[in-house]
Parts: sequence; structure tokens; C-alpha cells
Amino acid sequence: MSPHDGHGALGAQALLQAWEQAQALHPLQRADVLLGLAWPEVAPGAWGTLPLGTRDAHLFTLFETLFGATLDLRVDCPACGEALELALRTTDLRPEPPDAGAGVPPLQCEGYELAYRLPGSDDLIALIDTGDARDPDAAMARLLDRCVLQARHAGQPVAAIELPPPVIERLQQEMAVHDPGADLRVALACPACGHGFDRRFDIGATLWDALDDWAERTLAEVHTLASAYGWSEPQVLALGAARRQRYIAMVQG
Ligand SMILES: [Zn+2]
Repeated sequence: MSPHDGHGALGAQALLQAWEQAQALHPLQRADVLLGLAWPEVAPGAWGTLPLGTRDAHLFTLFETLFGATLDLRVDCPACGEALELALRTTDLRPEPPDAGAGVPPLQCEGYELAYRLPGSDDLIALIDTGDARDPDAAMARLLDRCVLQARHAGQPVAAIELPPPVIERLQQEMAVHDPGADLRVALACPACGHGFDRRFDIGATLWDALDDWAERTLAEVHTLASAYGWSEPQVLALGAARRQRYIAMVQG
């Protein structure tokens, strides 16, 4: 189904409604609205508890369904400021989702034994809500407090905030190994100055930008056709993209 079809869960009307509803939300929550539209059978609260890579794998699928397999990326070179425009394939970036059902094995490190879970978007939202997102150390402490289920040293329980830095570092490495899609990076080389650098890739933000562009274009089409023919918004959207384009061409003569 493409967003240009008028009807259905991912039809133009439903997408415009979701776009409008999600405007005021945080980017992480916007993605949840779109995921809920595409997978209505999944409980609304479930997306935020999935490992980030699993959630992002669904966002890749939704992007492909709506907009195809090409991702247009615009990045400014940090060295010379040159604007780089790249067309990437979703298949080049799509992470292998972790096996969410299996959970992660306990970690043993420096005499500590940790049971933990992989972070989901609920955990990231909790950091933003408390303002910890601006303080990396406080954010990591709070994230560990949420994701470390049990920590023991020499048989005694230990609070997550009391874990020594080498154990925390190792835990972060383990989390990255078990959920490689949680932090997707694209390696880039500037054609103007040759500088090599990498950039974090956020499929949720990319999907939202594409939807935002599509919504603006679609509203302009509705405006043109509603003005010319007196049709209502649902009537214009029910036409489908190809017929809308033909009528707009005739209106603009
Ligand atoms: Zn450059």
C-alpha cells in the first residue's frame, strides 16, 4: 500500500490524521503513532519496551512500504561545510533485529553478575522527561537504573548506581553487541575535501521528515482541487495520487 491510496490503515486520510496528531509529540513518540497505524494488532504500549533495533527494523519496513527503498540523506561536511546529498538503500542500513524474545544472557565482569534488559524508546523518553538527556553521566546512571534488573557482587545485591566504571563500560558494550541496530552509523567521505566522518542515522526522524514532506504536498493538492472543483478533502484524497495529478494538470492548464 502506498500513501497515495485514499483508503485503508495506511491510506492518505489515515496518514494525514496521524501526521496531524503526532505534530506536537516528541520524535520518539511520533514514531509510535506511525507504528500503531501500521501494526494495529500490537498493543500501543508495546513499542516503547522493544529493544531499539527491533523497533527500528519495523520503522524501516514502514518506510519502505510508504516511500520505497531509497533514503535521501543530506549532511553538511563538518570539516569544510560542503552539503553532501546521498541516496542510500534501506537494505544497506537496515539493522539485524536482536532476538527480543530470547532476552540477553547475564553479564559477569570484575566479580559482578548482572541481569539486564536492552533499552527501548520508553527508557529514552524517561531520560528526556527528567532532563537527564542534557547530562550524559546522569543519563547513563538513570538508564542503567532502569535496565539493570539485578546486580550482585560476591553474592550481595548492589544498586545499579554503585557499579564501578569498568563494569558500566562493559555493560554498554554488551548492550551494543546484543542490539547493534540501536546506534546506526553511516560512514561518509566528503568529495570536496576528502574528510572522512560518520553520522548517526535515525530511521524514525527520516520517516517523519518524509511523511511531513508528503503531507505538505498532499494538502497543497487538496487546496488546488478543492478551490477549483469545490470537492471536500475526503473526496480529493479518495481519488488516489495519479488522478489527483491529472486533475491538477488540467486546473493549471
Ligand atoms: Zn568536506
